[in-house]
Formats: sequence, C-alpha cells, structure tokens
Amino acid sequence: MSATSLLNVEPEATAHRTEALAEADRLMTVCNSCRYCEGLCAVFPAMEMRRAFPDGDLNYLANLCHGCGACYYDCQFAPPHEFNVNVPKVLAQVRNDSYRAYVWPRWCAGMFDRNGLWISIIAALSVAAFIVGFAAYQDRSVLFGVHTGPGAFYRLMPHNSMAFVFGVAFLYSLIAMIMGVRMFWRSIAEPLGPLDEPLSLWDASKDAGQLRYLNGDEGCYNEDEYPTDRRRNYHHLTFYGFLLCFAATSVATAYHYFFGRVAPYPWWDLPVVLGTVGGIGMLIGTAGLLSAKLRRDPALIDQPRLGMDVAFIVILFLISLTGLALLILRETAAMGVLLALHLGVVFAFFITLPYSKFMHGIYRWVALVRYAKERRLILANEAKGAAATSTGQGGARP
Ligand code: SF4
Ligand code: SF4
Repeated sequence: MSATSLLNVEPEATAHRTEALAEADRLMTVCNSCRYCEGLCAVFPAMEMRRAFPDGDLNYLANLCHGCGACYYDCQFAPPHEFNVNVPKVLAQVRNDSYRAYVWPRWCAGMFDRNGLWISIIAALSVAAFIVGFAAYQDRSVLFGVHTGPGAFYRLMPHNSMAFVFGVAFLYSLIAMIMGVRMFWRSIAEPLGPLDEPLSLWDASKDAGQLRYLNGDEGCYNEDEYPTDRRRNYHHLTFYGFLLCFAATSVATAYHYFFGRVAPYPWWDLPVVLGTVGGIGMLIGTAGLLSAKLRRDPALIDQPRLGMDVAFIVILFLISLTGLALLILRETAAMGVLLALHLGVVFAFFITLPYSKFMHGIYRWVALVRYAKERRLILANEAKGAAATSTGQGGARP
C-alpha cells in the first residue's frame, strides 16, 4: 500500500490562495519526482507521502521547514537552472503567510508584517514612558531614588497593578495563540483527527527540543555554501534561555503568592540564578541570530517579511539586556527607569506574541506532531500489510 493512499490524499488539480502557495505546489511536484533531498529533514519524507498539495498541506510542510538552506545548496535545479527550484525561500514565504492566514482576531492579519519591529519598539517605549511619566508625576523621588530590600520594585508600580496589566496582556496573547493553533491544526490535520495522541506529542516535543532538523546534512547554511552549527547553537541558547527566564518568573510568582517572599531576591536565590543564566543565554543567542540573519544569503530570505522576523529577535534581545541591566543596577538610582524600560519591552513582547515569529515555534511543533502521527500511521499500515502477507491474506502474487 502506498504512503499516499495511507494518508487518503488523492491527486487533484488544486487552486491556491496565493502565488507563494502555487509556487510551493510546483516545487513540491518537482521535488517529489527528484527526491534527492529526502534524507535532509522532515519536509521531504512528509512530501513523499503525498501526490497532491492543497493549501493546508503546503502550510504544514512550510512549518516543518527550519530554513537550514541545505536543499538550496544541494539542488541541481536551483537558479540559474530554468526549473528555478528554491525550496527554503518559497517555504519561508508560505510560512510567513501562514502566520497571517491563521491569525486571531482576523483584523490583525498583516498588521505587523512590514512594520513589526517599529510597532514592537513603539509599544515598548510607550508603556515605559507611561510608567516613567506616571511615577514622576506622583513623586520624582520614587522614580530617581535608591530603593533596596523586599518590595523595592513595587515602589514604582504596585505589585497588583503590575500583575493585572501583564496578566491581561498575557491572557489575550494566550487566547489569540490558541485560536491560531486551532485554525492551523484544522487546516492541516485532515484526516488525522485530534491533536492529542501522547506518543506523537512526545516525539514532536523531543524533535523540537533538540532542534533535530535545523542542521540539514552537515550543519546550517547561512551566508555561503559552507554549513556550520552556529545558527543551531544560537537557537538553542535563545530557546533554553527563554525557558529559564520563564522558570525564573514562575518561581518568583510562587514565592510571592505561596511563601510571602517579595522581590527583589538576593543574588544566590533561585529566581535570580535562573533569570541570570537564562538572560545571558538569550542575550548571546539573539545577538548571534541577529548577526546571522543580517549576513544571510539573500537568495534564502523572504525579504518583505524580514521586519517581523527581526522584531521578535530584537524584542527578546532587549528583554534580556534590560533584565540583566536591572539586575546589576537595581540598588542604584537607575533602577526606576530601567524597570520601566524592562516592563515596557516585556509588555510589547506579550501583545505581539501571536503576530510574531514566536508562532513559528508553535506551528512548527504542531507540524511535528502531525509528522509523527503520519509516520506512526504508515508504520502501522506497513506492519498490517506485512502480517497479512505472511498469513497468506495478502492475495496471491501474479
Ligand atoms: S530541492 Fe532540488 S535536489 Fe532537492 S529534491 Fe527538490 S529538486 Fe531535487
Ligand atoms: S531548507 Fe532545510 S529544513 Fe527546509 S526543506 Fe530545505 S533541507 Fe528541509
């Protein structure tokens, strides 16, 4: 039984919603005949399970792609060949379009595409300016004074106000992301059912956690045809740095509400240790990713959407920079302004999450879940076919 029939996908003429999707369909059809790159990543084996490429499947394949560039430099049909096969670039276009296609609420679609960086920075500075202005208006000595000991941060903004404003922003983002994932899964998942099979969830989380497919065959291609592990390492530092910072915030929240221990905490305490290690990891990781992005071969880039791509990395960089600066200078007169800046950047991060490159991480994990389900289904059917053949139920050979 062929993989195609296992997935119940029949070849048919498909009308596509965008030019990028139509081009991705053309490329996948060429690649499906060639299959030279099938060992490079999950995209090619997933492609080989299909003979037709409707929009949902192309969005799925595009989000499986890490943009490592290997299939561009390895391809004998890449430009200037007349077939003009450039899989990383076209899948990047489709991927970026997919964030817009599944966005919630709909009117936010495209809002951040070109001006993502500026919208994020303006949002961050506006919130910081509001906090600074409000504190200065109330009492300048609070803004520029030196505060130490438990509760020092909350002289600038009471803890309950801080928790409320950031809680609402985070909740909004969470709802928007859940709605987006729901639309994405529905669009790509037919006919594989719900997103809840534990083994597939585990496989996908393992692959995502290891960034398994980011290194192509020998590493990641960036500015030239010589692959290195740099991009993958920067991704790791950013990803695990972010998780450590998230853990630091969670521990601090538990301290506050369950143990009555109020920030700021001493240098040796768990939230500070986690936040410091995570912050340094994020700072180095995002700086490396930014520098790699600026040096990246233009042939691999979806140039018009670079703004949103860069915005997310810049915001993460600024979160770690302002967070570490606040940690170092928290017992000086600079604390008030630094805290306002840090809170402004964190707020901008929260409200732009569902419209930023962050969605690539989520959609990619969802695509990996589907990939794991597909592989499991095919293996189960192959085993069934083999069992039927060995017991003589597979029909007589001609
Ligand atoms: S990218 Fe090029 S070499 Fe690779 S499978 Fe497609 S056509 Fe073949
Ligand atoms: S760019 Fe890398 S991850 Fe994307 S399809 Fe090509 S080989 Fe796979």
